[in-house]
Amino acid sequence: MIDKKNITKRFISYVTIDTESNPNNPDFPSTEKQWNLAKLLEKELIEIGLEDVELDENCYIMATLPSNLDYDVPIIGFISHIDTSPDFTGANVKPQIIENYDGKDIVLNKEQNIILSSTYFDDLQQYKGQTIITTDGTTLLGADDKAGITEIVSAMEYLVKHPEIKHGKIRICFTPDEEVGKGAHLFDVEKFGADWAYTMDGSQIGELEYENFNAASAKINIKGKIVHPGYAKGKMINSLLIANEYIAAVPADEVPEKTEGYEGFFHLHDVKGDVEETVLEYIIRDHDFDIFEKRKYLMQKIAFDINKKLESDAIQVTIKNQYFNMKEKVTPVMHIVDIVEEVMNDIGITPLIKPIRGGTDGSQLSYKGLPCPNIFAGGHNFHGRFEYVPVESMIKATEVIVGIAQKVTTKYKQ
Ligand SMILES: [Zn+2]
Repeated sequence: MIDKKNITKRFISYVTIDTESNPNNPDFPSTEKQWNLAKLLEKELIEIGLEDVELDENCYIMATLPSNLDYDVPIIGFISHIDTSPDFTGANVKPQIIENYDGKDIVLNKEQNIILSSTYFDDLQQYKGQTIITTDGTTLLGADDKAGITEIVSAMEYLVKHPEIKHGKIRICFTPDEEVGKGAHLFDVEKFGADWAYTMDGSQIGELEYENFNAASAKINIKGKIVHPGYAKGKMINSLLIANEYIAAVPADEVPEKTEGYEGFFHLHDVKGDVEETVLEYIIRDHDFDIFEKRKYLMQKIAFDINKKLESDAIQVTIKNQYFNMKEKVTPVMHIVDIVEEVMNDIGITPLIKPIRGGTDGSQLSYKGLPCPNIFAGGHNFHGRFEYVPVESMIKATEVIVGIAQKVTTKYKQ
């Protein structure tokens, strides 16, 4: 039902516009170039025939597909982000289209010998016979999240062109700066006016997520005392060695590289120091709120114990909460997850419901009063040169959006 050529063309028109965001720029949006795609989308949404198309001063685009019912149903929203990750360059993306994929390795770049290995990235196997869009090995692809934008725009276009399909009022929004953690910051939930929404920002086909980490950062400042090493006995305090003791006291198996599923972790991601002062930067993650709190407590306790032993206050710990598990906000309205599961089953997709080992804009939006689970957008290997997306997965995601719009009209007839 969704035209394959059309969706491919649309996706390529988005990914070839560089929209990389910048974590080091406090401006909003963090890069001017995000406006280029925002303006193109504004024009396209008007052409498709959506109403209330509005690109605001912060680079958020909202639009409405009006209801074609003569009764009221809840207003549903769909959201994706226009920026791409600063982890890898998004300039000069040259997508390659591999039709009827044979299940073998894909040569991304012959000259530089960059291969997308079908054994290392064995998820590829499930897409045999499909059309895969890859990079040329020198950039990321930007399926995160331009696949999501493609699907939302294509679903809206389809619904406009097929007035026989009944649906309630649909609101859509494309946000800037998701990849630098700010996508939800200036999101006007009230103006959006949806009862609930979905981010189209998951990975492989079937993914449906409503649980994410509780997240905090911990900064450990350790003060030492520098004295000439030749005369240091009883006087020098080496902050590097205290840091070593601190690091050794943090559970060694509770780190990202040794955990999965619901297992939380402490992640030491930066160390800077000399004898006089050392700073350790950690992030703390856990799906379970109580265990999350215990992890934060442990970071303080380790400092307390070492300080006590040294009879000093050499170690200071600063902990900042970053985001919370949206499960808190979604569980009371679990029907918004159930409806997606039903739609997926209806159209032959196996739902993969699993906890996100990270955060999404949806978690912040959920805490701002807009419950917002995350649905697959279809891509794999985000934020790097091996990113790819099967066109068939984008078509299925588009069908999920259309399916949700339809199902609301019968499930919530008022
Ligand atoms: Zn994303």
